[in-house]
Amino acid sequence: MISINSNYQKLKANYLFPAINERVRNFVDTQPKADIIRLGIGDVTKPLPAACRSAMKAAIDEMGTVEGFHGYGPEQGYGWLRETIAYHDFQSRGCDISSDEIFISDGSKCDCSNMLDILSKNNSIAVTDPVYPVYVDSNVMAGHTGDISSEGYYEGLTYLPITADNNFIASLPKKKIDIIYLCFPNNPTGAIATKSHLEEWVNYALKHGSLILFDAAYEAFIQNPDLPHSIFEINGAQQCAIEFRSFSKTAGFTGTRCAFSVIPKDITGINHEGNKVKIWDLWMRRQSTKFNGVSYIVQRGAEAIYSAEGQKEIKQLINFYMTNAAIIYKELEKVGFNIYGGQHAPYVWVKNPVGQTSWDFFDHLLKQANVVGTPGSGFGKAGEGYLRLSAFNSRINVETAMNRITSMY
Ligand SMILES: *Cc1c(COP(=O)(O)O)cnc(C)c1O
Repeated sequence: MISINSNYQKLKANYLFPAINERVRNFVDTQPKADIIRLGIGDVTKPLPAACRSAMKAAIDEMGTVEGFHGYGPEQGYGWLRETIAYHDFQSRGCDISSDEIFISDGSKCDCSNMLDILSKNNSIAVTDPVYPVYVDSNVMAGHTGDISSEGYYEGLTYLPITADNNFIASLPKKKIDIIYLCFPNNPTGAIATKSHLEEWVNYALKHGSLILFDAAYEAFIQNPDLPHSIFEINGAQQCAIEFRSFSKTAGFTGTRCAFSVIPKDITGINHEGNKVKIWDLWMRRQSTKFNGVSYIVQRGAEAIYSAEGQKEIKQLINFYMTNAAIIYKELEKVGFNIYGGQHAPYVWVKNPVGQTSWDFFDHLLKQANVVGTPGSGFGKAGEGYLRLSAFNSRINVETAMNRITSMY
């Protein structure tokens, strides 16, 4: 008999989306004519930018020629894409990141969980509560936690609550934590970090020799030019942070798949003999063995995001979603709801005005307005009482949903 990785059995079954679907199904059974609007989705809805499509079509034709054919590419990604990214996303914002420090991948979800391959089980780990569930579950799978408590917390993880009381900004842990996951702009709360907040974290990490895993998947949604887009805008971050970026939300690449991680060459960890080892070397080794790169065609599509045409198109995409977010925010504010986020992120985080729990609010909106949100409690205990509404939808759906909700109050 083979034995399995029993850590998987510690995982809490992912009830959230199946539970949402079940409630919606049950409701539709009783009200078959109901016109349901789903504002629960965390996936983009607008089509791929034309600039990306033409670049990918040209790349396909190139692949059909002897001279233009590409087989296995560099595991780290093509140099031309990494150089474009390094210049456009980092150097032009004053961050000293070189193309060597960029690793192209097929997704940030994979990167942030695969990163655990090169880190030991002995690290203490902190996540916010609520949180993007991938950070927690991948640590459970890797055996970095104990069992889950009846309260829903995994033993061995440190949870940093983010609520309206602290403006959805976690306080620094009192004790030393080795690895800290941060996500700004935040999924699910829509919160944003100022430069001074990130400075606090970088100083903490430098003082304790910690590593910050910074998820900037929603960086392109930041509206205020003074807010940091990258952790590397903070002095010292190159000694203590890894950043995850993705084209999924920026350019509608959720189904096309392309992302990248930034791993500065300065970052080190210690091995079991107490000697310093470069994290970059380990990640390079890991990727060269376990990953064979993103397709040439998709990397050409990603490169086109940085062309003048591509930039214009993604600005329009993001403005479209952010106008949706502004409509949700403004309409719900009018009827006196307590609302957060939505200003630099495509998510609005709404406090339940009608009952105790997130599910009470979910049911209320489903039954009275036929609008589906995502219960905040699904992202962690401290998300209880909130609902996440997503701006990834059509204008007409967002407006109709808001009309229905506001007419209830
Ligand atoms: C959507 C999202 C990502 C992107 O994941 P991909 O695998 O690149 O599609 C990463 N982090 C968060 C918090 C997200 O919501």
